[in-house]
Amino acid sequence: EDSVIKLLSSIGEKPKKAESSKEGPLKIYELIRGIEKEQFEIFYQPKINCSDRTIYGVEALSRLNHPRLGLVFPDQFIDAMERTSLINELTRYILEKSLEHWKHWHRHGYLLNLAINISPKELNNLDFPEYVLGLLKKKSIPPEFLTLEITETALDLDHADSLEVLDRLSMHGIQLSIDDFGTGHSSLERLRIFPFDELKVDKSFMLHARENDSDRAIVESSVMLAKRLGLKVVFEGIENSDLYNMSDHLGGDIIQGYYMSRPIPEQDLLKWIENWIKKNS
Ligand code: C2E
Ligand code: MG
Ligand code: MG
Ligand code: MG
Repeated sequence: EDSVIKLLSSIGEKPKKAESSKEGPLKIYELIRGIEKEQFEIFYQPKINCSDRTIYGVEALSRLNHPRLGLVFPDQFIDAMERTSLINELTRYILEKSLEHWKHWHRHGYLLNLAINISPKELNNLDFPEYVLGLLKKKSIPPEFLTLEITETALDLDHADSLEVLDRLSMHGIQLSIDDFGTGHSSLERLRIFPFDELKVDKSFMLHARENDSDRAIVESSVMLAKRLGLKVVFEGIENSDLYNMSDHLGGDIIQGYYMSRPIPEQDLLKWIENWIKKNS
């Protein structure tokens, strides 16, 4: 079943994925070269407000444009990069590039929330908050427009530094999101300790929420918990009209998924936005 989903999601956006998967994860030297030669590209996936279908923002998702393999997806490079300091360089590259993109969208009249995925490795680095805040200041972008998404399983509960880093970011208005919620251990404790603003219910629960009672139970209780804690709820994995139509009823604030849009290259984003607004007004 998982492989069917993988196959489906490879249609359209990812023509070369099968090829790169066969070869396995990329080698470190290919990743170093990718950074040096600026072969990483940012795709953006829209986040839509549930209540009125307006655009809340976009999530930046990295792809490597490999000279031989074509477009390579994060499952082929994030783990390897996290085992070295390369992930810090990727984060910095993505942050600086996407904040430039934010300014471009702003010049066209769109105020979007920009979400970036952050590796747990960044959270051990006490200089990270100042770096991010410095960038925002330099580019005159209010911190409230930046969301940092942190995968639940990646968050080390025992690490005092990560709490301090997240506290400092949060104190300055940067939005913090717990990603893939429900897939890790001690989900609840993480919510209690860290200053999150947003909870993203993992797409594995959403995908079958309609026909599978236990998946729906997990979605519903995550929503209830998030609301009690004052967090925004994001549903990812909205792949079809059924899920799209039931997400409001299930209590989602923001939805994201292939049904609205796959992640799209930066150069196509403004066009997509204009179309979406036309269709939904
Ligand atoms: P994520 O942050 O949970 O992002 C959601 C993933 O689900 C993305 O895969 C997205 O393309 C996919 N997706 C979106 N809508 C749907 C849908 O309706 N159905 C299904 N089946 N899938 C959907 P992607 O782009 O391959 O990224 C995978 C993961 O890699 C991300 O999961 C994130 O954890 C990580 N990642 C991506 N870019 C970066 C990055 O720049 N830095 C770091 N540290 N991690 C990244
Ligand atoms: Mg994410
Ligand atoms: Mg996720
Ligand atoms: Mg994920």
